[in-house]
Amino acid sequence: MSEFKRNVELLTSSQQQLLRVISQSGPHSRTVLAASMGLSKAAMSGIARDLIALGVLRETETIYGQGRPSILLDLNPEGAFFVGISLLEDPAPLVLSDFNGNIVARQTMPLSRDPEVIATLISEALPKLLAERTDAARKLSGLGVALSGFVDERQESCVKSTLLGWQDVPLARLIRQKTGIETFIENDAKAVAVSEKLFGIARDIRNFSVVSFDNGIGCAHFIGGELYRGNHGGAGEIAHCTIEPNGSPCRCGKRGCLDTVASLKAIKEMAKTEGLGQSFNWLETEASLGNAAAIRILHRAGSALGLAIAHLIQFNDPGLILITHVEGRFDGLFGTVMRQAAEANVLPRYAGQTPIRTQHVDGDVWARGAAGIAAHNFLIGSTP
Ligand SMILES: [Zn+2]
Repeated sequence: MSEFKRNVELLTSSQQQLLRVISQSGPHSRTVLAASMGLSKAAMSGIARDLIALGVLRETETIYGQGRPSILLDLNPEGAFFVGISLLEDPAPLVLSDFNGNIVARQTMPLSRDPEVIATLISEALPKLLAERTDAARKLSGLGVALSGFVDERQESCVKSTLLGWQDVPLARLIRQKTGIETFIENDAKAVAVSEKLFGIARDIRNFSVVSFDNGIGCAHFIGGELYRGNHGGAGEIAHCTIEPNGSPCRCGKRGCLDTVASLKAIKEMAKTEGLGQSFNWLETEASLGNAAAIRILHRAGSALGLAIAHLIQFNDPGLILITHVEGRFDGLFGTVMRQAAEANVLPRYAGQTPIRTQHVDGDVWARGAAGIAAHNFLIGSTP
């Protein structure tokens, strides 16, 4: 696989800083970039020239304003490519993403719980993925893996994953050894948050939280423009905040966690217990027709999620709460109750101050997030 490896360490810290500034603030002229990085324009031009030669940076539109025309520098979407893999599904999707987060190729591989087997499966699936875009393969600049669980701050080891049954598994190293590609792993919701910061609607927002609504509820925070990991990689785990004291048992061993009331899985299980259909959309339709049991389930779940989001707002005062969901919808009773509960449970001066946006995402969300982790590390450089 070594022919696919691109030596990330070839980028100097100044080059990485320039790429990072453009990634965070968009295209700018050399003059503006030099000022923001505290460099002379000559030094700035030298760095830019090298990055343009590497194909990572490109000159874009010319702005005709007062004075001389100005050429803007932007990331070249085709300048670097990243592999993203999600270990949340079986078969596990692999995607190839450009520098803008656009997916240009995709494959799948079987999921295993054995880390060594996973590394082998990835090394076997990669040539098929890269064969779809041989030009991209030459510019491959990293590989990211998203999984359910806690990950250490070096994005090297899975500290704990209940879903995969892992404790202290050095997955990134195993994959790196098999593929020769710089590899980073990350918790699923954190990967989505990084991807939204790099490529999505949170690009210009320094403080925001992502809540991923799925069979489990994931959560991650950017604070001051940086992903906030916490001391053990577990920051933001609202799924296991107790929301109903002495409530239903949770797979984590506690009772009454948010996950037991408000996750898609919990909603479907409550519907099953009530003898109802288990499609989320079906429940919403029934609730709109006055089905008392459907109303009760969606109300209970929406209230719990709204209460947890109110806590998030109260703790962090974010500029945005972004709820991503593959399944389900937020334009019915569940979403309405969630918003009402969030509003009702924050201090009155906070009420209505924090935008809560919901975003329907496709099934690529986790793999794209994983590719975002690789892109993020390409921009910030390897953690020592
Ligand atoms: Zn729990």
